[in-house]
Amino acid sequence: MSTTQTAQLMDGTHLAKRIVEEAAVKAAEISHRTGSSPCLATVLVGEDPASVTYVRMKRARCAKAGIRSRHIALPAATTTAELIDTLSDLSVDPDVHGILLQHPCGPHIDERAAFEAIAPEKDVDGVTMHSFAALSFALPGFVSCTPGGIMRLLEAYDVDLAGKHAVVVGRSAILGKPAGMLLLAKDATVTYCHSRTTDLSAIVREADVVVAAVGRPRLIRGEDIKPGAVVIDAGYNPGNVGDVDYDTALTRARLITPVPGGVGPMTIAVLLAQTVEAAAKQLGMQRR
Ligand code: NAP
Repeated sequence: MSTTQTAQLMDGTHLAKRIVEEAAVKAAEISHRTGSSPCLATVLVGEDPASVTYVRMKRARCAKAGIRSRHIALPAATTTAELIDTLSDLSVDPDVHGILLQHPCGPHIDERAAFEAIAPEKDVDGVTMHSFAALSFALPGFVSCTPGGIMRLLEAYDVDLAGKHAVVVGRSAILGKPAGMLLLAKDATVTYCHSRTTDLSAIVREADVVVAAVGRPRLIRGEDIKPGAVVIDAGYNPGNVGDVDYDTALTRARLITPVPGGVGPMTIAVLLAQTVEAAAKQLGMQRR
């Protein structure tokens, strides 16, 4: 097989930087006009090292963009009821415009119940049932950040989705499922694949757009990528390896996201953009 690269890379790092710069400009305008700067509340249960790092990273990006953050660190032994109380308080606090509950929260927590305690207008991470329903009906609302980032990448690279066959591999509530609904809203014909799918290769071979959202290194074989397809790899596995066999896919795809530097940076960028949008609305600067 030839190792000649044919695909153009979809540069998530560059696009994310632009989105964050725009968010920073809007945040400054909000502060200037209302005297109050956007504020994201981050809630963390326990001290899982990866979650601590993610929250720290998100708060650092907020600070750089002129978005305040308020961190609530809860002990690992926090109950679902206590977590719901915290999230309910933040939901009615006028000084908080967005709420991020870092997950996973631990096996003893009913995460769905906790997410639902976040007021929809502050659900800047797009995790509530309200947000999922809104995006499924193509109504205004906040999208789950990674699928939102994927859609912004597709838009930035002028990918026309109407009538295209989009295959989404993975069906999690925060990633695969909403990604498929957003693609459907853009008139793609969507197929979801998951762990019980038989003959994944045959389905991927038919795809004009592949969204890999599994968490299994190189599950999607490069030779299954249809020549000229668009490949979005949301997977992030140890060693900076995605869910797609990148080297081979690169020789067949028209557009492809690198790992890292593709979907990854877009997630935080969308979180920041949505926090600013939430603040604008709550402070009376309607933007939609
Ligand atoms: P998840 O909740 O574990 O879901 C994984 C999905 O993959 C499930 O729907 C599962 O099917 C499916 N799956 C598992 N094995 C499969 C197989 N052999 N063939 C086909 N489908 C299979 O994971 P997630 O949270 O959606 O994350 C997926 C990946 O995206 C991970 O690598 C994660 O690190 C990455 N991620 C990246 C970002 C980012 O910012 N870039 C954000 C979130 C996640 P079942 O439903 O049947 O179990």
